Amino acid sequence: MKAVAVFGSTGSIGVQTLNVVRRFPDEYRVVALAAGNNTSLLKEQEAEFAPKYISSTAAYSSSDAKVFTGENGAERLAEETDADIYVMAISGLAALSPLMKIIGKGKRVGLANKESIVCAGELVLSAAARSGAEIIPVDSEHSAIFQCLQLGRQDVKKIILTASGGPFYVCHSTDLSEITPEMAVKHPTWNMGAKISVDSATMVNKGLEIIEAARLFGVNEVEYVIHPESVIHSMVEFKDNSTAALMSYPNMELAIQYALTYPERRDNGGVRAFDFSRPLTFIKPDETRFPAPAIARECLRIGGTAPAIYSIADEVAVGLFLSRRIKFTDICGIISEALSINEIERDITEESLKTLRTEISHYFRSKYTA
Ligand code: NDP
Ligand code: MG
Repeated sequence: MKAVAVFGSTGSIGVQTLNVVRRFPDEYRVVALAAGNNTSLLKEQEAEFAPKYISSTAAYSSSDAKVFTGENGAERLAEETDADIYVMAISGLAALSPLMKIIGKGKRVGLANKESIVCAGELVLSAAARSGAEIIPVDSEHSAIFQCLQLGRQDVKKIILTASGGPFYVCHSTDLSEITPEMAVKHPTWNMGAKISVDSATMVNKGLEIIEAARLFGVNEVEYVIHPESVIHSMVEFKDNSTAALMSYPNMELAIQYALTYPERRDNGGVRAFDFSRPLTFIKPDETRFPAPAIARECLRIGGTAPAIYSIADEVAVGLFLSRRIKFTDICGIISEALSINEIERDITEESLKTLRTEISHYFRSKYTA
């Protein structure tokens, strides 16, 4: 029986992680749950899974579990919990501090959060190398690459990420400046949390994933192609121009389950095998209309805090967009402005990233809250 700790249990990935655990009651038991503000769902999860430890950013009480509350509740939960597998599905840079505590334990981490790798890849990966923690990516593209790389790591030429393009890519008549939060959070192929849905619509997500892939797999050549069906999750091109691809109908539970069961595979919760009578399409990226991946590639080239500024400025901008203070098309402008006004630093620590987040957040929140 493996003990599982789920960080971000009330979110899209967290809920799907619990679906996977539920399918294998003799193999996995939940020992810890970390949530944000959704205490009513957390209560239901506690009643069902009876974890020993719980954290919540909001006030929460329990007669059975030890509870940590407040902004650093998840970090304290990470310190206290002794699990075999940790799933990190807290969104945004808030995941970094608990993740560093988890990594220090030297266990398996199913990593869904991408912002921590983008902002602090070196910190996270060097801590994992020291502790022996095994990071298994949950992001569908990176899970696919992780699986394709099992054909041979040393002969990789490049990684090719696929991108659905989100709701607006192929619809050229959409005036991007008129897109509302309600339109942006409706993704055509995936059902995800609000922030990553907006990131998919702006293509900032693909930029984050280019940096995430380069960091996680140590490969600098990372390209992407638009593939609206989201059936091929990503590809690895080898030196002899052979390309490996991982395919399935889009379902995050497959990637989550693989992170738990790796190196084994199990039955899934009903995802059908691909029907080959359907066509698959690929479209060349349009970086004039959707410049975010090109900005991310430039951040990767610059290095230092450039990727962190990209990620943090986006997190702030998406918050402003969801609260209707800026337009959809302002998001990329805010990222570019943040990159031009913040000096690139070479030293990255958890503390320096927190300061950077406070500064960027303060600057743009005051600018757009007139
Ligand atoms: P959601 O917004 O659905 O969920 C986020 C989770 O994190 C919620 O449980 C939320 O709690 C919790 N949370 C937020 N802030 C804090 C905090 N300060 N401390 C503790 N918990 C906090 O996001 P997703 O599940 O969509 O995404 C999670 C991560 O996984 C992101 O980094 C995303 O990029 C990545 N990812 C997601 C995919 C998807 O399909 N959804 C695919 C690939 C990657 P509450 O709701 O209770 O406030
Ligand atoms: Mg992804």
